[in-house]
Amino acid sequence: MLLIGAVLVLLTQSVVMGWISGAPGTVRATARRHAGAATGRPNFHLPLDRHKRFADPRMMSRSSKDPAMVAEIAHDFARQAVLRRPAKRESHLQAGPVALAWASGLFTLGCQAIFTDKELLAADANFVWTFLCEHPRTDLYEVLINIDPAAQLAFFFGFIYVSMYMFSLAAMPATFPALQSEPDADGKRTALQVPRRSSRDYKQHSLNTIDLSYMGLNSLCMPGLVYHFVCILRSWGMTSDPPLFNIYPSEPMALLTETVPQLIGYVSLYMLTYEFIYYWWHRAMHEVPIMYKFIHKHHHQQTYPDRALVDTLNTGCLESQFGLYLQLAVLWGYGQVGFGCLPAAVWFFSFCGWLSVLEHDKFERSVTFGTPLEFFRADDHHMHHSFVKCNYCPYSTVWDRVFGTFKPFAVKATPTPKAAAAAAVGGEASAAA
Ligand SMILES: [Zn+2]
Ligand SMILES: [Zn+2]
Repeated sequence: MLLIGAVLVLLTQSVVMGWISGAPGTVRATARRHAGAATGRPNFHLPLDRHKRFADPRMMSRSSKDPAMVAEIAHDFARQAVLRRPAKRESHLQAGPVALAWASGLFTLGCQAIFTDKELLAADANFVWTFLCEHPRTDLYEVLINIDPAAQLAFFFGFIYVSMYMFSLAAMPATFPALQSEPDADGKRTALQVPRRSSRDYKQHSLNTIDLSYMGLNSLCMPGLVYHFVCILRSWGMTSDPPLFNIYPSEPMALLTETVPQLIGYVSLYMLTYEFIYYWWHRAMHEVPIMYKFIHKHHHQQTYPDRALVDTLNTGCLESQFGLYLQLAVLWGYGQVGFGCLPAAVWFFSFCGWLSVLEHDKFERSVTFGTPLEFFRADDHHMHHSFVKCNYCPYSTVWDRVFGTFKPFAVKATPTPKAAAAAAVGGEASAAA
């Protein structure tokens, strides 16, 4: 039952993701490519079997060497050779890397099923279901409250899944608004986009079936990951009692004097540790060729990520699940040595999700928390997608600066002839004025 549900969810989200990111365009482009149009090769219209007997012009008899006929047959022969040539497959789309990614996604789902306390999970699903049935309590309460525990469980994971998507698609971009341009003549401001560095940044990768399968598997693993995160918080003492699930103290002054300084300290500790480990993992994926091909190359198909959640999820499942469970491993490790702080863990986990999506968006964003320091800037990760061997830190640039791999954002100074001419005309006009 759950397996059928998972397959249905996988198929549905693949269709939705394909629609969001314009995958129907991919299908059309592929069709054109098959017709020979997109490759720049001549678009042949003659049926292939017209000169079957003379498929190879070298095999023609002396008597039939009419020049026009020879030219036409040679044309057909070339066409057949082109169509017979196997298409070159990108190395990250070959069987090995794809099998590894799929196996990693399925392995994660399997581990989530095995290493989750089923009784506790059923009790949690029942808690959420009862809470939602009672708020508000409707005429259907008596019917709803007694539904099957398996249905409650399916609802529980569905609830996390849908909330996660809604949050990533709508709430995250709205929470960190894009930087705005200077007001124009009408006083209107527009959202700034990360500048494109060269013409290749305009030609974006269209999603294919393998992309959709990775995105599907990665997002199917999300509810289990979120549940395991909650389990860690519970092992630190989180309860479902008010106020706010007992995360914050009830006295406002204690919030300012105790919680906020604690928050800053612990979030920084978790973030620095996570970024340090991820920095070396990410750098290894680039510097060890086999790791790049098998694990990470897939994520680098776009030199300019601009589809936010889509480009975030479009990552090989091994690296995606490693990165996500590394966040939990850092929290679990600190919890073991008595450095577990509930609100800080919530903020850390949320920030990681937010920033992962925002750094793959086209809009320019900068997170300063009202200080002169820039903790995050969207174009740092765009530099990584553009130059590849720089800016390995997932969110900030702290470890790149320490280890000398930081590259500040710069737009290539190679204006097109048209832009150069327009700039020259503008310069003359302003000089005349
Ligand atoms: Zn990326
Ligand atoms: Zn990379």
